[in-house]
Amino acid sequence: MIRLTKSVFNDLAILMMGFGLLVGIVFPFFLILLGVPASITLQPWFILVCIMAGLVVGLMNIILARSVVGTRLQKLVKRMQYISNHLINDSHEDIVNNCKTSDCLLEVDSSDVLGESAKSYNVLVNSLFASLKSELMVRQFTSMLSTRLELEDLGITVLPALLSFTGTEAGTIVMEREGEMEVIASYRIRDTAGIAKSDVVTRAMAVKERQLLQMPADIAIESSVLDFSPKTVLVEPLVYHDVPLGVIVLATAFTIPQETLAMLELVNASLAVAFRNALTYDQLQKLAANDSLTGMFNRRFGMARLQEEFGRSIRSGSPVGVCIFDLDHFKNVNDTYGHPMGDKVLVHVSRLLKSALREGDVALRYGGEEFMAVLPGASLTDAFQIADRVRRLVEETVFQYGSQNLKLTISGGAASWPDFDASSADALVRRADEALYQAKEGGRNRIVAL
Ligand code: GH3
Ligand code: MG
Ligand code: MG
Repeated sequence: MIRLTKSVFNDLAILMMGFGLLVGIVFPFFLILLGVPASITLQPWFILVCIMAGLVVGLMNIILARSVVGTRLQKLVKRMQYISNHLINDSHEDIVNNCKTSDCLLEVDSSDVLGESAKSYNVLVNSLFASLKSELMVRQFTSMLSTRLELEDLGITVLPALLSFTGTEAGTIVMEREGEMEVIASYRIRDTAGIAKSDVVTRAMAVKERQLLQMPADIAIESSVLDFSPKTVLVEPLVYHDVPLGVIVLATAFTIPQETLAMLELVNASLAVAFRNALTYDQLQKLAANDSLTGMFNRRFGMARLQEEFGRSIRSGSPVGVCIFDLDHFKNVNDTYGHPMGDKVLVHVSRLLKSALREGDVALRYGGEEFMAVLPGASLTDAFQIADRVRRLVEETVFQYGSQNLKLTISGGAASWPDFDASSADALVRRADEALYQAKEGGRNRIVAL
């Protein structure tokens, strides 16, 4: 390409005008070849007119080239400058979310190289925005994740954000906690327990790979809330150092675009780290929740669990029982056999208590030699029966340590909601305490249900 100046359009102008000049000069001689008399064509005025005509055509060409091609290129430059200025001066979020088509993209109005270049430019801008969006999403996620330490808290923060980022309508987060798949957060999915146990979740955890399904039969979407059945279900395992921690399940009535899946892959690692931290925190909380002698829940944590169970019962209408136990004449054990022996007895009794309870019941060390059992679903009769089972177990046990054998008894008080119309968990505990007092008053080694 011949370069005459620093401007391509100026080069073009010189070439076009030069070409016009050349045509203007050559044209009279060309006419002679066609038979026009030289007496006319070689007249200075005729030659001048031809040269002028050549120059005008050259000038028109350059004007047209500038207005047709130049304005298009100008638009391209303006948009590129607009984008780069915003990228430098503003937050990426603004330009990515607020850029109007007329400000950032080019109109494709031809099928030639100009149209092609506009098309390619648009593709480039769109992919730039897509990657900025992913970057923003990752950043937003990372900052959001670092502020949440508790598992449930993390779950209910992450799930709505994930739903909005992925454009999905329903979802759940299931984590493995102490060997069980536990639903941490859920939105618009009716059968969350079913999802936690479903084959697809089990498979995702086993192979540690994303599962993308079309309308699985084992997941029921809340049709009374949502009038769609899912077209796509995504099960994204969260894996930390090759250990599967749990899964995120997202469901939509549409398909999930490839870019969204790619974005999810970007945040997956941060999510896994956050959930790993939350699980660790959860374990630490548990340690803080346990009584160091017996390993049972301590009073503070156990009472919090009771509050939870009581609230759940009020909501669901199913009963909840509470039993408080107190070892009879325990001072004598300490006095006769020594405090360390007393401790061993307490550990032993705590095991007996736990063995008498069902899964889902909560046992806690309520005080020195006092224990409590929280029995979800237990009526007053059930609570009495369970408490009496504990009483019999203690009565029948010979506490043997080395050469020393000792026998013990325990008293208990039972209460249950709604048999007793307690207004709060504390009121229910007071009722059980009153029953325990009556058991002691009544001669010990007995259960009183009130
Ligand atoms: P009662 O039948 O009326 O309950 O008689 P009691 O002797 O058990 O009386 P009380 O419940 O008032 O006494 C509790 C005793 O339990 C007092 C304390 O020495 C003992 N104790 C409390 N915590 C511990 C502990 O952690 N280890 C040991 N070894 N003893 C404890
Ligand atoms: Mg006591
Ligand atoms: Mg006692």
